Amino acid sequence: MKIEGNCHCGAIAYEAIVDPQKASLCHCADCQTLSGAPFRASVPAASADFHILRGQPKIYIKTATSGARRAQAFCADCGTPIYATAAENSTQYNVRLGAVAQRAQIPALRQSWCSSALAWAQNITGLPESP
Ligand SMILES: [Zn+2]
Ligand SMILES: [Zn+2]
Repeated sequence: MKIEGNCHCGAIAYEAIVDPQKASLCHCADCQTLSGAPFRASVPAASADFHILRGQPKIYIKTATSGARRAQAFCADCGTPIYATAAENSTQYNVRLGAVAQRAQIPALRQSWCSSALAWAQNITGLPESP
């Protein structure tokens, strides 16, 4: 599936071919912190299928307790998360769904790191609503 996206300020724009069947949520504590949200939604693209059209993301290298090094790409001006990929020998970009234009058509189909999921964020049905 072809997607396009851009950061909030517009400095960075990209396009990619993603596999919507692999869209997922991550509840890990790092994703909560790095996204500023209760959980993060992403969809993978092969590295060859992800293309920056405008701008240059800033890269933050996150080292996991396992030693795995992940490059977290975001807009240095507005902070929008763009993607994450292996810091070395990248084969896949995990594109952050929040900045993808087609995000409403790419539902997450699985979730991971559920042991650190925030219980209050798992069912928001019934919260008072405003349009
Ligand atoms: Zn931006
Ligand atoms: Zn995570």
